[in-house]
Amino acid sequence: MELPSKLLENAVNEISQLPGIGKRTALRLVLHLLRQPVEQSEDLANALLKVRGEIKYCSGCHNISDKEICQICENPGRDKSLVCVVEDVRDVMAIENTGTYKGIYHVLGGKINPIEGIGPSQLNIVSLVEKVKSNDVKEVIFALSSTMEGDTTIFYIYKQIKDYNVKTSTIARGIAVGDELEYADEVTLGRSLQHRIPYEQSLNQL
Ligand SMILES: [Zn+2]
Repeated sequence: MELPSKLLENAVNEISQLPGIGKRTALRLVLHLLRQPVEQSEDLANALLKVRGEIKYCSGCHNISDKEICQICENPGRDKSLVCVVEDVRDVMAIENTGTYKGIYHVLGGKINPIEGIGPSQLNIVSLVEKVKSNDVKEVIFALSSTMEGDTTIFYIYKQIKDYNVKTSTIARGIAVGDELEYADEVTLGRSLQHRIPYEQSLNQL
């Protein structure tokens, strides 16, 4: 795409690197900003810099947080012995929206994916195993999407914690194979958490 200005081209290139945004959409967004008061661009730029520079990850569960410990881990009403393992922070939001879960979370930050070069050491797995070893956890619920990467990740973690005194379960497959968790509707997701099954049992179904 030929653009009449290097500055414009630069902005379009940066924005089009965001997922789901092509060059045309990026151009539309930049032209839109140029028609707005300059404050809007400043506010946008500042919000991005601030979120990138100041966001924290909860030292307990790796959820996004404004403080050292997130609101969920901090809440005395949450059952700390029940840990729901999810891929990323969007899954925490999706499960929180169901309003049915009263335990805490553990955010892995991804799934094991050899093709994309993501191994166990790049995920928050050690801290989960440590949590289990400390004996504070009664049950670990695996709430990962049932893709091959999700299953591989669950099995890897399961092997690390199975010898400790902890129950492992996996969400019931109301979620169709290959579905991403965040797209599941709240009712289905809430139900699949309530009707979770022991992890060993789910292995027999494979
Ligand atoms: Zn937390």
